[in-house]
Amino acid sequence: MGLFRLLTFILVAFIAWRMIKNYQTKVSTRENESEKVKIPVREKMVKCEICDIHLPKEEAISFKDADAEYWFCTPEHKETFNQQGS
Ligand SMILES: [Zn+2]
Repeated sequence: MGLFRLLTFILVAFIAWRMIKNYQTKVSTRENESEKVKIPVREKMVKCEICDIHLPKEEAISFKDADAEYWFCTPEHKETFNQQGS
């Protein structure tokens, strides 16, 4: 019964393939989850262009140039930077 053996082989191969695929999906999902845990929700720190102080992006004053973005700890330092540029 060559045909029966062939069908059994195909069935076993198919089940094995599905199990491997299932396993890989589970592993990759788990990796994604652990990656999320690894990256903490932290405030992004930026550096004042004038005094080199690091402060949270939310508290910093930004100035957008044509090709760059600058950050300052106070409006005064932003002014200083603008005056230096011109
Ligand atoms: Zn500053």
